[in-house]
Order: sequence, then structure tokens, then C-alpha cells
Amino acid sequence: MNPIFIDKIEILKLYKRVDTHTHKGIQGHALIIGGSYGKIGAVCLSSKAALKSGCGLVTAFIPKCGYEIVQISIPEVMVLTDVQEKFISNITFDIKPQAIGIGPGIGQEVATQTAFHEFLKTNKTPLVIDADALNILSQNKSWLSLLHPKTIITPHPKELERLIGKWNSEPEKIEKTITFSKQYHLIIVMKGAPTHIIDGDTIYENTTGNAALATAGSGDVLTGMITSLLAQSYEPINAAILGVYLHGLTADIALPETGYQSFVASDVIANIGKAFL
Ligand code: AMP
Ligand code: MG
Repeated sequence: MNPIFIDKIEILKLYKRVDTHTHKGIQGHALIIGGSYGKIGAVCLSSKAALKSGCGLVTAFIPKCGYEIVQISIPEVMVLTDVQEKFISNITFDIKPQAIGIGPGIGQEVATQTAFHEFLKTNKTPLVIDADALNILSQNKSWLSLLHPKTIITPHPKELERLIGKWNSEPEKIEKTITFSKQYHLIIVMKGAPTHIIDGDTIYENTTGNAALATAGSGDVLTGMITSLLAQSYEPINAAILGVYLHGLTADIALPETGYQSFVASDVIANIGKAFL
């Protein structure tokens, strides 16, 4: 099957301008759930990327040990903490975000797995699932049926393999991902070079990005960007397409300044504004 190439022409068809009369309360509230001892940085990157991608409010739900880290490193982000110090054990909150991103730095503690399961049973908010939250799903495949249609998952190749099994060729990988997408009605961001987005039988191929993105935290930033766009009422497929395109574009913009070696995930965040412009 032939992919639809995501280029500037396609992006301009779906991009929505910010309304002059908007305010933070209607610009979308994103909730990022993740973090564990030693991996609070993943939530910082994801939350900051969400804010820099245009939503009005961002809340981070993290274990207690991350409270001061997030509050100090990103003062614009609101913080809710789990009862546990080092990992997430009970995902409950009394806010009403328009989108949730879950997984960056979350780890795979047994209590975290149980909390994620309970969360999936009751969640009705549009969702982006990444990182260890995907690995937890790989170990508990029956939970996949709890996901609402058009839930977005963002696996890198290893995470994808854990979900769909091994493949022998690129076409087989795409075929298996299409089957998986149809079975669970998911939008699958197959991260790689290039990134493909699979929505049932439709395949999109991104045209931005470069090898500078092969760096720690790059995927956590992407999760925040897509969650932010989802919170701003983009259709899930358009949030995935626009997020992937802008994420790649930041690396193309920054490359002449940083080279491949010095580009880090924070450089993605620093260039989101230029990518939008
Ligand atoms: P993660 O592995 O979760 O940190 O995600 C890595 C991100 O960087 C994904 O968005 C990948 O598509 C992107 N990426 C990694 N390596 C490359 C590469 N060689 N060329 C383009 N994009 C890449
Ligand atoms: Mg990742």
C-alpha cells in the first residue's frame, strides 16, 4: 500500500490558527502521567513540550520524589503527586483534562502496572500511550481491549516488536502493524527513520527529521507534543500527524547550529516555536 506523504502542503490543510480571542481555559488542558525515581526528567521534557506546543494548561501527575524537580524546572506546569515516593501506584485526580499522555519514565513496578490497569478501566479522555506504559500493555495484552477507538500509541521499534511480534521485512512490519491497528482501532505512530503513522489501512509517511533525533528523551518530547495537540481539539489522527511533522522539523531547523552530535531533546523543545512559524 502506498503511503500518504506528510509534507508542508498536507500540514497546512490541517493546521488551525490560534484564535485572537482565546484564553488559557479554552486552549486545552493536557495531563502528563509518568515518572519514577531517576526518570523524572522524562516527565519534565514531555510536560514542557506540551506547553510549548500550544495548550493552555499542563498538569504533571508524578510520584512524590519528582514534586520539587518539576515545579522548579518548569514553573508553568501544575503538579499532582501519587501517594508513593518513587513510583506511581494510584492514578486518581480531580481535574478534567482534554487529553492525557501516559508513559514517559513511568517504569514497570507491579503497583504501577495495577494502577495503569485501573486507570484504563475508567478513563474516557483521549489518550496517548508511550514508553513503559506500552511495555506494560505488551505484558498484559488483554488490557488492549480497554483502549478507546483512536487511542494513539507511539512505539519505537523495540516497543512495537513487544506489541506485535518480530517481523522479517519492512513490508511485513507495516502489514502486521496495520492488522494490530485494525484489531484494536488504534492510531499507531511507528517511530523510526522515517516515522510512519498507521490508522487502519491508511499509512502516512513523515518527511521531516534526521538522525539528530536519535537521542535520550526525544520520544518523551513527541508524546508531550501530540498530547498537547489532542488537548487543543485536533482530531487524533491530525494530532499525531502534526506532532510527528513538527517534532522532525525542529531537528531540521536546529541541525546547522548543533550538528548531529550536540542535538539533545531539549533542542527539540527549544525549536518548537520556529517549527510552528
Ligand atoms: P524514543 O526512542 O522513544 O526516544 O523516540 C525517538 C524519536 O526520535 C522518534 O520520534 C524517532 O522517530 C526519532 N528518531 C530516532 N532516530 C532517528 C533517525 N535516525 N532519523 C529520524 N528520526 C529519528
Ligand atoms: Mg521513548
